[in-house]
Amino acid sequence: MTAPLDVLVVGAGPTGLALAAQLRAYGTGFRIVDRSLDRVRESRALGIQPRTLEALAGFGVTDALVARGNPAMRLHLHLTRRTVSLPLFDIGLPDTPYPFLLFLAQAETENVLGEHLAARDVTVERGTELIGLEQQGPHVVCRLRGRDGTEETVTARYVVGCDGAHSTVRDRAGIDFEGYAYPHTYLLADLDVDGLEPGAVHSFMTGGGMLFFFPLGSPAPWRLLAVRPSDAPDGKVTLPLLQGIADRYGAQDLVLRDPVWMTDFRLHNRGAARYRSGSCFLAGDAAHIHSPAGAQGMNTGIQDALNLGWKLALVCRGAAPRELLETYGTERAPVGREVRRFTDRAFTIGTSPHPVLRFARSQLVPRLAPLVMRARAPRAWVFRTASELGIHYRRSPASTTGPRPPRHGPRAGDRLPDRPQGLQARTAAPGWHLLLTGPPHLWPDQRLAPVLAGREDLITVHRLGERSPWPGVAQALVRPDGHLGYVASGTEPEGLRDYVARWLPTDPA
Ligand SMILES: Cc1cc2nc3c(=O)[nH]c(=O)nc-3n(C[C@H](O)[C@H](O)[C@H](O)COP(=O)(O)OP(=O)(O)OC[C@H]3O[C@@H](n4cnc5c(N)ncnc54)[C@H](O)[C@@H]3O)c2cc1C
Repeated sequence: MTAPLDVLVVGAGPTGLALAAQLRAYGTGFRIVDRSLDRVRESRALGIQPRTLEALAGFGVTDALVARGNPAMRLHLHLTRRTVSLPLFDIGLPDTPYPFLLFLAQAETENVLGEHLAARDVTVERGTELIGLEQQGPHVVCRLRGRDGTEETVTARYVVGCDGAHSTVRDRAGIDFEGYAYPHTYLLADLDVDGLEPGAVHSFMTGGGMLFFFPLGSPAPWRLLAVRPSDAPDGKVTLPLLQGIADRYGAQDLVLRDPVWMTDFRLHNRGAARYRSGSCFLAGDAAHIHSPAGAQGMNTGIQDALNLGWKLALVCRGAAPRELLETYGTERAPVGREVRRFTDRAFTIGTSPHPVLRFARSQLVPRLAPLVMRARAPRAWVFRTASELGIHYRRSPASTTGPRPPRHGPRAGDRLPDRPQGLQARTAAPGWHLLLTGPPHLWPDQRLAPVLAGREDLITVHRLGERSPWPGVAQALVRPDGHLGYVASGTEPEGLRDYVARWLPTDPA
């Protein structure tokens, strides 16, 4: 009998590709299958958030994304009588190397991830569909159907459903997908527009709703996004229909032309009741779908993958206990719920026909917009939230605060900031990173020996001296996904030793 595969990744959208990149970085045995014969050619998700850029930097793909993308630094809010220009992401992001929202078509993002995998001899098995799975003891027995119709049985230790909103893995694992559909239909088009200032996001706002133009670049200069007005004709999306809608939103000076892709779709807000059933996990759209307000969907999916991948890799390698896998749902399900709530609010404010919100859009926003410019704290909060830099796992069992936690600086469960600059790059290599601050002579090798014994290949030690995110003498263990697992002050290694013994035991169960 052949040994079971470590991980079967079902779905090669952005979530599955990011998971594959991480499993590859750890040398885990895996296969990645996708039922479609070709990768996505449509633009779909177009905003990459700073936290996603940080998280992908460890694989060396972020530079390629940034080189191909288009950072937008301003939002032009076109109101009935005037235009207000707001800086985007200009505050609240002092601790990231990527303080901008990067616009790049999803097709390009997948292309970059695909090239990364191909360069590392990973083949995405296209035309291969998961048609069934069954948990048998500790393993999952999966049935795959190839492009020529032949079926194959694969036994895997773990299966990850990165297979989108209509996930087969979720369905076969018996996990409910709870939520609701919005009554509206969205209109989407990638096209060229005469009359728009390049390099900015444009929003046309009326009591009836909002119309957006995002600077896409490729495959067309602009992405149009709007709610189809309730009295607009149903049916195929055409250029005259979109021009008519633009005119109604007060964008009559613009000329829409040369569409590359036009479509409409209904939006849902749903979440998986659980992120795991036995040895099956869900990530990305398979676990949560919501409105595109705030450009969160693809980003949350990629970050799900990067939370799970290293845990699976270490458990499969026998370097971490199976208990570590339980922290995936504990950490990521609240993030998914919060994204659904945040996008629902933004979507409702932007589209609701409720008279109060209509009034707010048509009357209050024009008056309040200049004040918003000056309201630094709320703007910083919005950017911090949208950028996903504020996501933390402080309540996770894998986040431990040791004795006398530092009064200032990031806490256990927070992401490691890039402060001082270059710290994230220094800790980007796969594995865990132990940061020791204060005078280096306080950290002789023999002090660390009980912590590191048997884990030398998993933990890299950095003596930071005074250039540290914490004042004074501190010790912090950074997880492979850039979040802090353990933080304490002082030089006593016992708390750290206990943390490492729990999550990286030399004899895991
Ligand atoms: C028309 C459209 C417009 C969108 N616009 C935006 C936007 O503006 N902003 C935004 O943030 N998001 C947008 N999205 C959502 C965004 O595309 C998703 O959030 C993102 O693709 C999720 O990535 P994923 O990898 O989790 O799932 P997906 O990209 O859906 O990938 C799932 C993959 O799994 C494969 N698969 C499914 N079932 C099986 C099976 N049984 N066996 C094998 N393979 C399988 C599929 O072929 C697919 O390749 C849009 C989506 C659509 C459809």
